[in-house]
Amino acid sequence: MFEEWGVRSGHHINNAWVPGRPGVEVFSPIDEALLGRIAEATEEEVGAAAQGAAAAFPAWAALGAEGRLPYLLRFAEEIGARADAFATVEALDAGILESRMRHGIVPRAQLNIRHFAEAALTLQDRVLETAQARHLVRHDPAGVCAIITPWNSPLMLSTWKLGPALAAGNTCILKAPEWAPFSSALVAQAAEAAGLPPGVLNLLQGTGAGTGAALIDRPELARISFTGSTATGRAIGATAMGRLVPCSLELGGKSPFIVLPGADIDLAARTGALMYRNATQVCLAGTRLLIHEGIFEAFLERMGHYVARLTVGDPRDAATEVGPLIHPRQAARVKAYVDGAVERGAEVRWGGAPSSVGALYFEPTLLTELPASDPIVQEEVFGPVLVAQPFADEAEAIALANDTVYGLGGVCFGPEADAVRVSERVRTGFIWVNSFGIRDLDAPFGGCRQSGVGREGGDWSFEFFSDVKDIIVPKAPFEPSFAHR
Ligand code: NAD
Repeated sequence: MFEEWGVRSGHHINNAWVPGRPGVEVFSPIDEALLGRIAEATEEEVGAAAQGAAAAFPAWAALGAEGRLPYLLRFAEEIGARADAFATVEALDAGILESRMRHGIVPRAQLNIRHFAEAALTLQDRVLETAQARHLVRHDPAGVCAIITPWNSPLMLSTWKLGPALAAGNTCILKAPEWAPFSSALVAQAAEAAGLPPGVLNLLQGTGAGTGAALIDRPELARISFTGSTATGRAIGATAMGRLVPCSLELGGKSPFIVLPGADIDLAARTGALMYRNATQVCLAGTRLLIHEGIFEAFLERMGHYVARLTVGDPRDAATEVGPLIHPRQAARVKAYVDGAVERGAEVRWGGAPSSVGALYFEPTLLTELPASDPIVQEEVFGPVLVAQPFADEAEAIALANDTVYGLGGVCFGPEADAVRVSERVRTGFIWVNSFGIRDLDAPFGGCRQSGVGREGGDWSFEFFSDVKDIIVPKAPFEPSFAHR
């Protein structure tokens, strides 16, 4: 069925489409309709992709950033040329709002490619002057990179990694997420249409346990960049370290959303309602509301006002703000989390049950009266379920904010100086002050503790996707000496 939207089936290896063996069926989260069956990669196909990427590497690396620039600018254009197909496909297979795809994600995906292609032009110009020497700090291409992404924003997350990896001179193997695999095929088609040489960007379809596990065990790999769950990240990290392959892991979260006394309650409440975007299948959503006890009820009343106006529905409808959950398994998991919390004494402030819209839709939900140790306060639900806890003072807000194993993001509303002071003590990779979702491609992104290893974005991406080398040229004539350090 996906062929009718112009999506190619199978793997893309060395610029050829390889049918692969039949893999899992893919269903739409909108109505559980069967969308098609994707390929699963055999070991030989994974090997062919890895060898193809390895063979393409020397010539792609030798082009230099300037030589790669026209290819990558064309790649970004070809992504834009497929905006309608991307919007249709990710609404259908990932449940992402079609309007958001068109206006937000496709332009951002283009920027992911363009920005890093241009930024790479100055990558080799770094010189460190010390008293003794000039250090010519080079960022040499590393080699073959495996790029593994989840289903909750496939185009955005794949291009966020492909952009810097390719711009830095590496060749890539993209592993598509099996629950939302079709836009990754469009990415490979855009790369092929842009004229990227064979082997520079390969695509493998298939499951994590099959294709994914076979890919990360390939000896050709120089880097693994993974976004997904903490459990999978741990497994990938173990394999990568077994081979001493550097890996970047962007994992799950349970981020705090703090509202301090003196905050703009209306702005905080409107932003709080935004946490239900993508049915809260968003790693960086602030899912634990920590509200000062003096404004707790006033804030919830205000936020409830905005949440009541959210439209849950089909992601293809322009009026929809909250779409479906990705899969029946995920819908059952969300319901079990909420039912369990209610059994343990949680108060449902709003929502609390599946939506009448369809089997995979769940009402935006808020639970209170839960101890900090409750599983739904501690664990990532990945559905439209938030919890709210009151705090008495800054020290308690910070203690609660840091009281999970995660450390991805955060949000803090309050008078700016207070919000910055509190943010400094929240142990996460990033935190937004009086705002949410501002992402700058030059800024670092990633998580602490169980939310990940490493940072991507700007120079951090280039550090990861390069072999950094220091060429040391002395300033004074060098005299060999055994006494010399
Ligand atoms: P997942 O870990 O199940 O799967 C992610 C990808 O890894 C898929 O492509 C899957 O096929 C592959 N995979 C699974 N097992 C593998 C293995 N053994 N070897 C190689 N590849 C394997 O995650 P998911 O359910 O698809 O995505 C949701 C998770 O992603 C959530 O935990 C969310 O917080 C996280 N996420 C994090 C970020 C971030 O930037 N930190 C962004 C988006 C999503």
